[in-house]
Amino acid sequence: MRPPMGSQKINPECHIQPKSVRGFFRSIKWGILWITLGVYYILPWIRWNRGGGFPDQAVLFNFASGKFYFFGIELWAYEIYYITGLLILAALGLFLITALAGRVWCGYLCPQTVWTDLFIAVERFIEGDRNERLRLDKAPWSLEKLLKRGGKHILWFLIALATGGAFIFYFQDAPTLVKELCTVSASLQAWIFLGVFTATTYLLAGFAREQVCTHMCPWPRIQSALIDEHSLLVMYDEERGEPRGSLKQKRREDFSSTQGDCVDCGQCVVVCPQGIDIRQGFQLPCIQCALCIDACDDIMKKLSRPTGLIRYDTPASAHAKRSGVTSKIPFFRPRILLYSVAFIAISGLMVFTFLNRPSVMAYVWAERAPLFVKLSNGDLQNHLTVRITNRHLEEAHYILKIEPEGSLLELIAQPSQEIVVPADQEKAIQFSVKTPFFQGGSLEKTLKITDISHQEEISLPLTLKGPLP
Ligand code: SF4
Ligand code: SF4
Repeated sequence: MRPPMGSQKINPECHIQPKSVRGFFRSIKWGILWITLGVYYILPWIRWNRGGGFPDQAVLFNFASGKFYFFGIELWAYEIYYITGLLILAALGLFLITALAGRVWCGYLCPQTVWTDLFIAVERFIEGDRNERLRLDKAPWSLEKLLKRGGKHILWFLIALATGGAFIFYFQDAPTLVKELCTVSASLQAWIFLGVFTATTYLLAGFAREQVCTHMCPWPRIQSALIDEHSLLVMYDEERGEPRGSLKQKRREDFSSTQGDCVDCGQCVVVCPQGIDIRQGFQLPCIQCALCIDACDDIMKKLSRPTGLIRYDTPASAHAKRSGVTSKIPFFRPRILLYSVAFIAISGLMVFTFLNRPSVMAYVWAERAPLFVKLSNGDLQNHLTVRITNRHLEEAHYILKIEPEGSLLELIAQPSQEIVVPADQEKAIQFSVKTPFFQGGSLEKTLKITDISHQEEISLPLTLKGPLP
């Protein structure tokens, strides 16, 4: 196959120089870029009043207290299964969207795509569009080249620094951390993570770019198992476009039936951030960003030809059109139904368990050495510990009781039989249980924990230890 006219050239900085393009899909990509970046940079600065003593940052992963805050929602470290559930939902959502519309994630939403787009926009702003950048690459070093290159790298570094900074703000109170960074009093971990995320953003979006999508990311390999002949993909209409030929030749022949619509202008290639030619068919590095659609539609409009020579289509529909029949995209396919049902079921389960989670949580465990003590009156005594978590945003008072009756429960080192747990805290309390002598190794009882402040109650199974028969 002959090489495309506008095949991309690799510049000395080892990345492709895509040309700017305007059009419907480019506008969508700009919109998504500003929304996603806006959310990422602004979110840690949104305040959320949780009352006295609690963090007022709307979104905060507070490792020090083992809590995750998301506006009105608070998750404790032991509720990590909700995060696991969210990751499963994200994976299912990705499977679903890939089966429906190919690599939409890669083309529009992936952080690598979004930041690379931003870095290219900065590059274009300072060094000019593709041809000017290619000329600058080849030009010998001069003051102008030094200023342009220097300006670009300074801006890239500042964006990378803001990106790394925004990331660490999700893990500590943002205004406090900014002050600590400015006065060089932030923790070592903060500096390390800031450095790592600044460096990775700078290198991946500034230099590695399309290499990440082609060689480092596993998603292109996985996606081939997720798409089928009914998935929407960016496709070149070979039937209509070929045989391709120069505009001069086509004008001469007036786009006759011996010529296809492709004028071999190479615009679809030079705008491609991956540096590939969509006319060669579906390729692994193609991130389905649809910029080649915008470029080709622009050419077709200028030539007064119908747009859509490159368009979103499905392999099945393209095949049907070649055979002269029209086909509809079957949205209710087995894999779509499977992913949708799994997504809805897991979301429903998560919402249900979240809405019904108790506001008091407790664990009880027995002291192992000794397992039990035989008292002088013949009774058996077990030592245990209960950890109570008060999830209310105010102090709560608890009392413990053993059921069925017949055992004596005594709190150890507590001023009264009422246990006070501060708001949004947990407390471990040791207690003993005295029981009339029994044999058989163990005795099953129930520990009842009553929150007398909020009239709530939970029961925990309790195994008391005794001598073996
Ligand atoms: S071939 Fe088209 S859709 Fe694929 S990456 Fe290049 S510009 Fe984007
Ligand atoms: S932009 Fe359209 S006309 Fe130009 S080379 Fe690509 S497919 Fe052909």
